[in-house]
Amino acid sequence: MSNLKVNKDLVVSMDYELKVENSIVDFSEEGDPLIFLQGHGNIIPGLEKAIQGMSVGESKNVSVKAAEAYGEYEPENFIEVPRAEFPEEIPLEIGTEIGVNDENGEELSAYIEEVDVDKITLNFNHPLAGKDLEFNVKIVEIRQATAEELEHGHIHDDHDCCCGEDEDCDCEQDGSCDCNHKSEATD
Ligand code: ZN
Repeated sequence: MSNLKVNKDLVVSMDYELKVENSIVDFSEEGDPLIFLQGHGNIIPGLEKAIQGMSVGESKNVSVKAAEAYGEYEPENFIEVPRAEFPEEIPLEIGTEIGVNDENGEELSAYIEEVDVDKITLNFNHPLAGKDLEFNVKIVEIRQATAEELEHGHIHDDHDCCCGEDEDCDCEQDGSCDCNHKSEATD
C-alpha cells in the first residue's frame, strides 16, 4: 500500500456516496471506485479541494456548496430551439442530455426541459445545479500518473475509454490508449 497522500498530478481511486437533501443520488459500486487525476478539474472543485492530503484507507464526510459543485441554478439558462432545427436523431424525451457547442466551439451539456409542437426548450443547468452536496468518500488507492496521463490531463485505464468517446475509441485492453481522435480535436 502506498504512503502517498492525495495531491495534484496523482491518480486517485475513491469510493463515494453522494447525498442531496438526505437522499442518496449517486454512489460508486463495490470494487468499482471513481478514478481520476487529482488537480486537473476531473471532479468538482469543492470535492477536489476537500480530499487534498488524504491517505489511502481514510474516509471523510465532505459538504460542498452548490457554487463549488455544479454551480448555482440560473433561471435564464434556458434556450428555445425551433423543432424543425432540432437534429432528428436526438430522442425528444424530457431530461435527455445533449451536447451543444457554444460560440467558442466548447461543448456544453444541456437537458431537454420541454417539448412543444413547434419548439424544444433546453436547460443548460446541470441537474444538480443549485444543490448543496454531501459526500462520503473513502480513498482506495493512490498512484503516480504516467507522463501521457499528465499530458492529457485525465487517466487511462483498461476498461473505460480514456476520452469518454466509447464509440470510436481505439483504447487497447492492456491499458494503452490511442487518443488521437481526442488530441486532434483539442490541440
Ligand atoms: Zn487520453
